Amino acid sequence: MEDKKAKKSFKAGDTIMRQGEKGDCAYIIESGQVEILIEKPDGSTQQVGTRSEGTIIGEMAIVDEAPRTATVKAIKDCTMLEISRDDFAMRLKTTDPVIQMISQVILTRYRDTLTRAEILRESDNYPPPEALERSYTAQTDVVESIKIANEFRAALKNDEIDLHYQPIIDLNLGRVLGFEALMRWTHKEEGVISPGIFIPIAEKSGLIVEASKWAAKEACAALGRIESAVGNSTPMYVSVNFSSHDFAEVDFFDNLLSTVENSNIQPSQIKLEITERLLIQQPDNAKATLQACRDAGMGIAIDDFGTGYSSLSYLYYFPIETLKIDQSFIRAMYKEDRSLELVKSIVGLGKNMGLNIVAEGVEHIEEARLLQEMGCDSAQGYYFAKPMSEQDIIQLLGNWEPARISA
Ligand code: C2E
Ligand code: CA
Ligand code: CA
Repeated sequence: MEDKKAKKSFKAGDTIMRQGEKGDCAYIIESGQVEILIEKPDGSTQQVGTRSEGTIIGEMAIVDEAPRTATVKAIKDCTMLEISRDDFAMRLKTTDPVIQMISQVILTRYRDTLTRAEILRESDNYPPPEALERSYTAQTDVVESIKIANEFRAALKNDEIDLHYQPIIDLNLGRVLGFEALMRWTHKEEGVISPGIFIPIAEKSGLIVEASKWAAKEACAALGRIESAVGNSTPMYVSVNFSSHDFAEVDFFDNLLSTVENSNIQPSQIKLEITERLLIQQPDNAKATLQACRDAGMGIAIDDFGTGYSSLSYLYYFPIETLKIDQSFIRAMYKEDRSLELVKSIVGLGKNMGLNIVAEGVEHIEEARLLQEMGCDSAQGYYFAKPMSEQDIIQLLGNWEPARISA
């Protein structure tokens, strides 16, 4: 990953990009002003326009491989928000193929127009495209997500990302079976940012792949440290969240296996948490990869079970060994009979198929009791413990009294 700051500054007079060179990024001008210069075949230079805040420069280079069509110089001090070619390529790759094609066609036509325009320059009258560009950058959610993606990239480099661990409890014995590793981002200015915000952006920009590799490595190392600190005789496990981008990597399994082998834990002590959506999106890739993980002894858990797709056939098709019942059903168990029946059915289905069941989001003892009565093996939730740092987990385990659930 390149070490790049999310924001770039240029002083008045600086050359920001040069005609004829291959570009690797575009910029949204946040403040300042630039001039766009075209060097003619005869060596003369002509200014063809200026741009100021809220407009974009260098956008063509990130869509195709052709060289820059103009030189851009700062005429006032500028700050820019960078959109890298890699970031853009990843976004383009995950969009509808028709959209990809149309963007390429539009760019080709635009370049063609420019080439012609150079010949006809003196007589031509261009409508200023600035207003149009501003309407694009006015979509603040797009700008915001680019900002967060850039900052997340830097955060991964600067150790601003951390893992917290939430215990998963055996409902019969009351002991800690393992932990789910949950990512935390402590931003220098904004404080703690929720994974609910940065994970979807990390997924869209493809940065999740590097984040997941880091998380798997850190989670394995942490479990090794926790076990040696508390000296438990029964091995515990760590559950790590993965997304569909991770499974698109051809060396996903090899990487994960070598991560586990280079740690102090066994493959049976790591569980992969994936969603139903992932299985639907990547069925070919996912099956072989998951089978390899399972064959190596790792666990596979379906996260947020019940919120995804209605077809249950994938439970046979993929080598799954754990179902995690989504917290929305657990929360509704007491309010709606239908939710209670749904949870009972999931527990029954899981048991019949020989799967482990984890109930998520258990906040009250009554929920834990109901689940235990239904035959649900294990649970996770604020009633038992919130996600916490490695140090706090070690302390918690040192003082752990088997949770008493039965009335
Ligand atoms: P998730 O995988 O379903 O994780 C469980 C979420 O429920 C966590 O939120 C956890 O703090 C929260 N939770 C646990 N017990 C309770 C409870 O009793 N009540 C309530 N209301 N909530 C509870 P968190 O940590 O904010 O994570 C949100 C989501 O972000 C996760 O949902 C997961 O989809 C994603 N995520 C977190 N870390 C990672 C990661 O390392 N990689 C990936 N790909 N996704 C991650
Ligand atoms: Ca999860
Ligand atoms: Ca979940």
